[in-house]
Amino acid sequence: MAGFSDFALHKTIQQAIHDMGFEEPSPIQEQCIPKILEGVDLVGQAQTGTGKTAAFGLPLIEKVTGQNAVQAIVLTPTRELAIQVSGELMKIAKYKRVRTLPIYGGQSIGHQIRALKQGVHVVIGTPGRVLDHLRRKTLRLDQVRMLVLDEADEMLDMGFQEDIESIIKETSSERQTLLFSATMPQEILRLSRKYMNAPETVAISRKEVTAPTIEQVYYKVFERSKLESLCRILDSEEIDLGIVFCRTKRGVDELTEALQERGYMANGLHGDLSQAQRDKVMQSFRDATIELLVATDVAARGIDVGNVSHVVNYDIPQDPESYVHRIGRTGRAGRKGIAMTLITPREMKQLRTIEKISKSAIESRTVPSIEEVMERQQTIWREQLIALVEGDSDMTPFMEVVRQLKEEYPLEKISAAALSIAFSSSISPGEEEVYDFGETGASNGMVRFFINIGRSVEIKPPDLIKEITELVGISGKSIGRIDIFENFSFVEVAKESAPFVYEALRHSRMKGKRINIEPAKPRAKRQ
Ligand code: AMP
Repeated sequence: MAGFSDFALHKTIQQAIHDMGFEEPSPIQEQCIPKILEGVDLVGQAQTGTGKTAAFGLPLIEKVTGQNAVQAIVLTPTRELAIQVSGELMKIAKYKRVRTLPIYGGQSIGHQIRALKQGVHVVIGTPGRVLDHLRRKTLRLDQVRMLVLDEADEMLDMGFQEDIESIIKETSSERQTLLFSATMPQEILRLSRKYMNAPETVAISRKEVTAPTIEQVYYKVFERSKLESLCRILDSEEIDLGIVFCRTKRGVDELTEALQERGYMANGLHGDLSQAQRDKVMQSFRDATIELLVATDVAARGIDVGNVSHVVNYDIPQDPESYVHRIGRTGRAGRKGIAMTLITPREMKQLRTIEKISKSAIESRTVPSIEEVMERQQTIWREQLIALVEGDSDMTPFMEVVRQLKEEYPLEKISAAALSIAFSSSISPGEEEVYDFGETGASNGMVRFFINIGRSVEIKPPDLIKEITELVGISGKSIGRIDIFENFSFVEVAKESAPFVYEALRHSRMKGKRINIEPAKPRAKRQ
């Protein structure tokens, strides 16, 4: 298997990769990077979560020269993706003088014009706004040597085809063109034939992998409150030994520290540790002085511990094969094991791919509520207190405080206050993600979506409910009012499920038709 050092990437970029905490190339990177460096046009079938951004981002930044002109442009379907890609490119370019700029609708055009005037090497933009700049002549693409169409299928579904073609025509015909797409419908192939030069195709391996027969579940979580969700899940489980997988070395360090701060017996394992450090961590895991081992895929590869009760994918694996490797660490020697995967809305699709290729049935579970966690915690607190009360540890200084206080306050209240000092840090309400769908005309606590299918494909409310509950892993109770018209429908779903419904349904198929889902406009309610 290739390592990053096998690629012809400058040492400034190698250093940036190291800082980002990547240990080894993901499968899609392994295939794409050498080809892109060679200069060929490439069609990559990959979705979010596979490492596709760095797959084109690393060679893209490598190829940027000192010339003061826009040398590369990345087109993305949404502003969120533009910002995300731009962030990743900036990290890759940490030690190289490359100016990147995301340009998208919704942000002041004046601000973008000023930034463009200062000289930019790489533009990451949504098609509409890029075209707007081209028309105003505030952006020139005649020096562009690399064009990337990211999430091309989504861009076409959003009706950007003409815009994209107009933009392509502004670039030099000498350019290298890269196209990434999760699916490869006819229109994508047509686009690639028309604008690409003998493109090579790269896809993640669809090699059959068989998942072990252990219980597999997933939890829908939000990026911002992922840590809180993990803690709630851990607190509601009986864990003997657990391995928690993170994508990067950095991720391992950060999560280990956060878990330790919260009082979990956790330690981290990754490729930057010395052999002695690794041995020490592994020994403490084997004799159960720690209960959670936080690790990257690479670090966990050599581990052979028999009684792992839980495998937790804190970050979703980059491909089905790695999913199967990870979860195979539990359920050994006939013991019971469970594999848990945390999924953010944008990763719903990657989960479905993993499920399909590994032929696994991964069941949806809900992150325990704070009340549920509290209930469980109470049992634990009680047990700890009883052990202390019945034990013989020296509590003299604490006794003294109690003696003084009990003159003035009831003992019950003093004890509760003491418990709260001891344990309140282990419970926190967590943050909610801001997935803002705006005003959709829905009832309270719900979001109303427009979906482009209706009676004409013989869809009825129970079909819609079935499709949504199965695809998104939510209960029928999270679905509210449904209105079906001839060619479209409106569905209300509970606010907390809305981001998952949106991301899972976008560009999926129902009754053979490609789904377009959008937040409803409030006036649609009166129809
Ligand atoms: P993407 O599929 O491009 O959206 O990437 C998903 C996440 O994986 C991002 O947070 C990347 O920074 C991260 N990532 C990309 N390549 C690697 C790698 N080789 N090792 C670890 N993490 C990676």
